[in-house]
Amino acid sequence: MPHELPKAYEPGAIETRWAEYWKDQNLFRASTPPEGHARSVFSLLLPPPNVTGRLHMGHMLNQTEMDIIIRWHRMLGDLTLWLPGTDHAGIATQMMVERQLRSEGKSRLELGRDEFVLRVWCWKKQYGGAILEQMKRLGASVDWEREYFTMDENLSRAVREVFVRLYEQGLIYRGKYIVNWCPDCGTAISDLEVKHEDVPGKLYEIRYPVVGTKEFITVATTRPETMLGDTAVAVNAKDERYTHLHGKKVLLPLMNREIPIIVDDLANPEFGTGAVKVTPAHDPNDFQAGLRHNLPQIDVMDESARMNANAGAYVGLGRFEARKRVLADLEAQGFLVGTKDYTIALGKCDRSGTIVEPRLSEQWFVKIEPLAKRAIEVVEKGYVHFTPDNYKTIYLNWMYNIHDWCISRQLWWGHRIPAWRCGECKEITVARTTPSKCSRCGSSHLEQDTDVLDTWFSSALLPFTALGWPEATRDLDVFYPTSLLITGFDILFFWVARMIMMGCWFMMPPEKPLRPDQKPDSPEEALRNSVPFRDVYIHALVRDAERQKMSKTKGNVLDPIEVIGQYGTDATRFTLAAMAAPGTDIAFNPNRTEGYRNFANKIWNAARFMFLNRDRIGAEGAGVARARSPASPGSKGVAGFTATTLEDRWILSRFNGVADYVNDALEEFRFHEAANRIYDFFWGEFCDWYIELIKPRLLAENGANKSTAGGAANNLVTLFEASLRLLHPVMPFITEEIWHAIYDGKPPFKSIALAAFPLGDPKQIDLACETHMAILQDLIVSIRNIRAELKVEPKVKAPIQIYTHEPEIRALIEHNRGAVTNDRQANVESITFVDSSLAKLPGARHTARFDVHLVYEQKIDVEAECARLKKELEKYEKNISNADRQLTNEGFLAKAPAHVVEGLRKQKAENESLRDKSRKKFEELGCK
Ligand SMILES: [Zn+2]
Ligand SMILES: [Zn+2]
Repeated sequence: MPHELPKAYEPGAIETRWAEYWKDQNLFRASTPPEGHARSVFSLLLPPPNVTGRLHMGHMLNQTEMDIIIRWHRMLGDLTLWLPGTDHAGIATQMMVERQLRSEGKSRLELGRDEFVLRVWCWKKQYGGAILEQMKRLGASVDWEREYFTMDENLSRAVREVFVRLYEQGLIYRGKYIVNWCPDCGTAISDLEVKHEDVPGKLYEIRYPVVGTKEFITVATTRPETMLGDTAVAVNAKDERYTHLHGKKVLLPLMNREIPIIVDDLANPEFGTGAVKVTPAHDPNDFQAGLRHNLPQIDVMDESARMNANAGAYVGLGRFEARKRVLADLEAQGFLVGTKDYTIALGKCDRSGTIVEPRLSEQWFVKIEPLAKRAIEVVEKGYVHFTPDNYKTIYLNWMYNIHDWCISRQLWWGHRIPAWRCGECKEITVARTTPSKCSRCGSSHLEQDTDVLDTWFSSALLPFTALGWPEATRDLDVFYPTSLLITGFDILFFWVARMIMMGCWFMMPPEKPLRPDQKPDSPEEALRNSVPFRDVYIHALVRDAERQKMSKTKGNVLDPIEVIGQYGTDATRFTLAAMAAPGTDIAFNPNRTEGYRNFANKIWNAARFMFLNRDRIGAEGAGVARARSPASPGSKGVAGFTATTLEDRWILSRFNGVADYVNDALEEFRFHEAANRIYDFFWGEFCDWYIELIKPRLLAENGANKSTAGGAANNLVTLFEASLRLLHPVMPFITEEIWHAIYDGKPPFKSIALAAFPLGDPKQIDLACETHMAILQDLIVSIRNIRAELKVEPKVKAPIQIYTHEPEIRALIEHNRGAVTNDRQANVESITFVDSSLAKLPGARHTARFDVHLVYEQKIDVEAECARLKKELEKYEKNISNADRQLTNEGFLAKAPAHVVEGLRKQKAENESLRDKSRKKFEELGCK
């Protein structure tokens, strides 16, 4: 039974059906190949979305780019793996569940840790898969059988293994440190989670009396409440104003504590008074100065940023209330000597918006330098390659200045730190499994550290842990290093840099697991193969149509699911791909998506036309056109296409050229160039020119022409099938639908996704023929333009004259006379060649290769035209006399505003000029 496509293209139904089919058929499963396999491998890790996540335009872009690349490689014949999973997202998930609890009038603390964690698991089970469900609807060609969650048992085991190994290597330590503390979240947050904004604030100048003198030292601060924890005042060695005070002490106001005057570069003689207060427990720079001078660290706040017992009389006050009271007291006692306006770069928690407090606390750290050293080396040597390449510099600059990584978080949801403190001797035991007794005193009174690891700690390990590390798995062998990572700039440091550090540490001997029969690489090869990915492509941001960043507060957030609902996934993907120039943000305009939906419509209608003709010609007994099976991967060109005419040779040549171009563009992540070239080819060249040009052949019905029609239909189907394969990575659904229809439901493969991606064949490229076709197209377009200028009715055939000094061009046109005269093309009555230039004639066009003149007499109905002109003239006269009446009315002129009068004068002048034109025509036609 011949397949029939429904009349209207309805993306929704088609897309849901194929997305389910792909998943049910397990089409994108990447089986682990046996030893000695020869296929090249392409592997890609999906940046795991947060388990709390919902698909946004950024994901949609990221997924579209990944899916295009992975489908392309699959069609090139590579063994492809796209590995999906979700991230447990410590803070985000915990906050989500806490909010849910609050709405029930409960709190995390009431529940207790174990109960709370269970509750989060329940939440995850119920809601956690939402974003992956959305991906399934989008048909992302990932291997669903390998889906992981970062807190799966095997991944958690690998996280503990990494922690213990780093600890044993002396690369994890516990230390006091100034961290960014969010009093609302009750946890330390990384520098990357702090958003800075400039706000107007005050700079307070406070004077401290120098002990044993009548002098004061004035210091300035934006956070006066922290003075309660001051343990020194610093001056610069070069600052002569203070030389006589070296070694003396000041009396800290309000606290009446004596603190030393120290000499340190922390004080900048150029800034303010040149003297600064030193509060090691509440400022990161002061903390470092404190270490240099062995100063005490006096913490004056608790974890919710209320003043503690160290704050003397201010105990129990919130930090901002304390600030007011401290200032009032300083002023009352004569210590506040100035208040100035000052712009403060205020740090706020990225999640809660609370002002971050630098706070001293006990944390776990990764000593980063040895890991960073290797991560720098592999990028400098090009073992990891960045696109766009400016990210290499950004990455390296960051790595050169990297600080130790604070990896502990005061949360309940996450990988709990595998460290136990002894209740008797306080010894810390770090172990892979829960120890039964203290490693030092043997006491069984052990308590596990209450902190969990930074979420990025576990996600930094994914390229190898998700493939089975620490076991020496075959998957690690085959799929590591992964080929490519596609991600956004915002997680370059959070994630990309850390994956490189961890990968180059744990996939390098002696950490890299080897099977007994495996030979280790040479040291340089080992380094080269330790990287988590060979290529990193950093994509841009998706902004709104006005190039504004999308944000909830602005209300300009576009939901990709809504856009898809309106125009289909294919059109949405195509929009993103067509705009995804490396390094350029995308101004997403749904109007463009509508345009690409029209593109899909165009293809759909062309397919219907193809099926109609194939079935009709087949029914009449001519050779039934069938596309050949797609060529096996690696073979070039189009098989089964018989080029007999200029347009055949041309479209075949164009197809091969475009295929080459698209392969090259995808190789360099120039998604926009690939998409736009396919669009121009499919719509502009294939549908608008080729199909139109072969219509007369398809419609040829008599005798010998039957085989002509059969051949044309065969070519049409063959090239259509190949073009679908070319388009498939960008528009997977519509291509799958039509491709199956071509094979009447008996395709050579389960999916077009498994067919071969077209590669150009130099033997099928014919540039001379492309030039000829371009001239012919130029001729036809020129005639169409002349017809439009002269307003020639579409039905009317007109003769043309052509002048060319090149016999080759004349032969070309004579040979393809039918294409020019065809009523679908230029609708020409006859073609005459003349011996001299036609350029000067009206209704002629001059080009480098030919002149063309359309011989056309305007036949007008003189009587009707005269009547029309007469009416027009009457209208203009009336307008003019109306204007005159007003412009000669003194009363009107006295009252009317100048611009009204001016407008009226202009109107009158315009009407006069129009009247003169019409009158001239009226006289030329001899109207009465
Ligand atoms: Zn917070
Ligand atoms: Zn002990």
